[in-house]
Amino acid sequence: MKVFHAPKSVLHAPESYFRRGRFIPHFEQPQRYDVMLQAVKEGGHDVQEAAEHGLEPLTLVHSERYIHFLAEAWKRRAEIEPGVDYVLPSHFSRPEMSHYPEGLIGRVGFHMADLSTPIHEHTYPAVLASANAAVSAAQAAIHHGYAYGLCRPPGHHASTESGGGFCFVNNTAVAAAQLQKALGCKVGVIDIDVHHGNGTQNIFYHRDDVVTASIHADPSTFMPYYAGYADETGAGAGQGCNLNLPLPHGSGDEPYLRAIDDALEFCAARGVEALVVAMGLDASEHDPNGALAVTTEGFRSAGEKLAATTWPTALIQEGGYLSEHLGDNLKAILASFEQTRTG
Ligand SMILES: [Zn+2]
Repeated sequence: MKVFHAPKSVLHAPESYFRRGRFIPHFEQPQRYDVMLQAVKEGGHDVQEAAEHGLEPLTLVHSERYIHFLAEAWKRRAEIEPGVDYVLPSHFSRPEMSHYPEGLIGRVGFHMADLSTPIHEHTYPAVLASANAAVSAAQAAIHHGYAYGLCRPPGHHASTESGGGFCFVNNTAVAAAQLQKALGCKVGVIDIDVHHGNGTQNIFYHRDDVVTASIHADPSTFMPYYAGYADETGAGAGQGCNLNLPLPHGSGDEPYLRAIDDALEFCAARGVEALVVAMGLDASEHDPNGALAVTTEGFRSAGEKLAATTWPTALIQEGGYLSEHLGDNLKAILASFEQTRTG
């Protein structure tokens, strides 16, 4: 399978973040990229560096002022405090507070959902590199049927004008918008990350040309907490085009795979003709998130199921954190996807 990656992805190197009441070492480490790159090389895939695609693909899913904020934040850091190591919020806007402040410190809290997305000198180039891998994978999916984008940092928690949950630019949404624009058909997004793809849901919530489905651990006690519930079904033109399948914590292969069947059926019933898989691997039983218990065999079966259509399909890396099994899980899902497609 064609695999696209971007070496600048490793430039974003967050040290710690605030989780459940304390600062802990950051899960989203550059080493993830090394582990996953090694896995695709061992898997015998056609591994290529992504081309530069510029900002245009981002503008299809993010607001101009959010992209501008990401580009400017580090340069303006002295506004927060001279000598700060990271640009991080200290206050957050609430839904009832909608003014867009001039100062950087206010803007960080306007655009960021939590303290997991510190911006430093090399964050922006890394984020663009990750998006380039998504665009290259989408383009290759159009021409070759399927492809994988090794995107890091991840993207599916990034909304039209906000980041959070380790995410800055929504690579999955960028890929979906590319497929939609190029093919002019309905595109499905199936998100199999352990966390609800709240950013992707937000971006396409009012649209019927991109149908979104997310399988994830029940958000009532788990990130992203405020979205990911079964009663969120889309709005306006997008009414009926969003499906959330929250699973009880601790769920293993069987309910996970059944939910993938349901998501595929949902997409097919809505006339989808191209697919993006938000391919988080943090539903693994070995992932430090620890909310679901999917095995390597489970990921192998997931790859088979997701390959069972003839739709052009871009597989976009989302979460999946360092454990001894991350590389094996990636190898399993990509190999079974490709074996199914090539018969
Ligand atoms: Zn995740």
